[in-house]
Amino acid sequence: MSQVKKVEGITRESTQSMIDRALEAYPEKGKKKRAPHLAPNDQALGKACVKSNRKTVPGVMSARGCAYAGAKGVVWGPIRDMVHVSHGPVGCGWYSWGTRRNLVSGRNGVSNFSMQFTSDFQEKDIVYGGDKKLAQLLTEAKELFPLAKGISVLSECPVGLIGDDINAVAKKMSKELDLPVVPCNCEGFRGVSQSLGHHISNDTIRDYIIETREFAEPAGPYDIALIGDYNIGGDVWSVKSLLESCGLNVKATWTGDGEMERIAATHQVKLNVIHCYRSMNYMCKVMEEKHGIPWIELNFFGPTKIKQSLRALAERFDDEIKERVEAVIAEWEPKMKAIVDEYRPRLEGKKVMLYVGGLRPRHTVGAYEDLGMTVVGSGYEFAHSDDYDRTSPEMPDATVIYDDASEYELEQFVHELKPDLVASGIKEKYVFQKMGLPFRQMHSWDYSGPYHGYEGFSVFARDIDLAVNSPTWKLVKSPF
Ligand code: SF4
Repeated sequence: MSQVKKVEGITRESTQSMIDRALEAYPEKGKKKRAPHLAPNDQALGKACVKSNRKTVPGVMSARGCAYAGAKGVVWGPIRDMVHVSHGPVGCGWYSWGTRRNLVSGRNGVSNFSMQFTSDFQEKDIVYGGDKKLAQLLTEAKELFPLAKGISVLSECPVGLIGDDINAVAKKMSKELDLPVVPCNCEGFRGVSQSLGHHISNDTIRDYIIETREFAEPAGPYDIALIGDYNIGGDVWSVKSLLESCGLNVKATWTGDGEMERIAATHQVKLNVIHCYRSMNYMCKVMEEKHGIPWIELNFFGPTKIKQSLRALAERFDDEIKERVEAVIAEWEPKMKAIVDEYRPRLEGKKVMLYVGGLRPRHTVGAYEDLGMTVVGSGYEFAHSDDYDRTSPEMPDATVIYDDASEYELEQFVHELKPDLVASGIKEKYVFQKMGLPFRQMHSWDYSGPYHGYEGFSVFARDIDLAVNSPTWKLVKSPF
């Protein structure tokens, strides 16, 4: 066990009494339900200290999304050469159109399809069912976009309630159109958050996609796949080029800038490198059980974690890769040192609070620490126990951990802990900026990025400095 990290002024008692004060606002039932989701971290124990993956308490303003968001927005949507149909009324597809920054190559509408494709349900589709409309839509999609390599059908809430059979329609139309059509029953009422949407989507990749293609190029000993990187602001591109400079051959990316046929052939790689454990562990486990492909969980945020990750990766290969990895680390280290030398003095000792989805609340901690910052609170919208097990050793002892935090709880913790930076989502951003607090969006990278890989760290360090040391924060209070 590595040395226990502590933060001056934060003890288990101080954190617990801060939690108790926040819980005072709730009625008895709400208090009882929320209490197990908030706790001080026990770093030495290295285990989850909070309950997770439970239904949200009604009316508390959770930051969570739904299974459709986990399926269409996260897993399926980034596959660039498929048409992704938001099947149901117009809202869900509209709000999720272009808002997640999973960048893609190619030409929109020709070779990639980052568009809002919807069946736009009307009342008559609810009353009479939408299966016929879906069949017609699939035919039209193939006519309009002949270069699409497949179509996914992502169900919104009503589809599962009115008894439509999208699976039968997909099967029939897939034959008729000679095109993969993947039905994904990811209605938003399923599960408790985005998380079940990930699982359902992984299962549809297992049932409809994997093993249906083979790589055109010959197999080699260094063939790997990058799993669970969604290319936010170009993250995949930064990691892919880094892995390739280490001599590895990244044959498929799941699913950021992903290609359907490469994803379908991933059962032929030698190793799966997984970044987002939460959203893609299911398929890594399937490929391990079914195809004997081992997987390794890595972290590409900040030079310390990148170095550890590259070395752990090299251990899975021969001396040639080990040497190349060391050469890559040696090449980047002076550049990383220059960045740390520039930004660390400006950020040393600053406190951060994080609240993100299912990976970054633990994965980015090391990158802040590389800049001399301390994370004093962290939490997830939709993580499970195995994520919190992995979080405990990363977070300093006794700091607050919050699961499915309500906006009220977050505000209370921020008021009490007075961090120098809050790093969370768009729904939180303007609340905290109005409190006069520096804020960075940790989902969209605030329209910046990439943050992954060595290239990403230079962008990350610059962005954090820009936020924390902006002169704006000195002008929040009127001089009168
Ligand atoms: S909960 Fe239902 S209606 Fe709301 S976004 Fe998700 S699928 Fe759409």
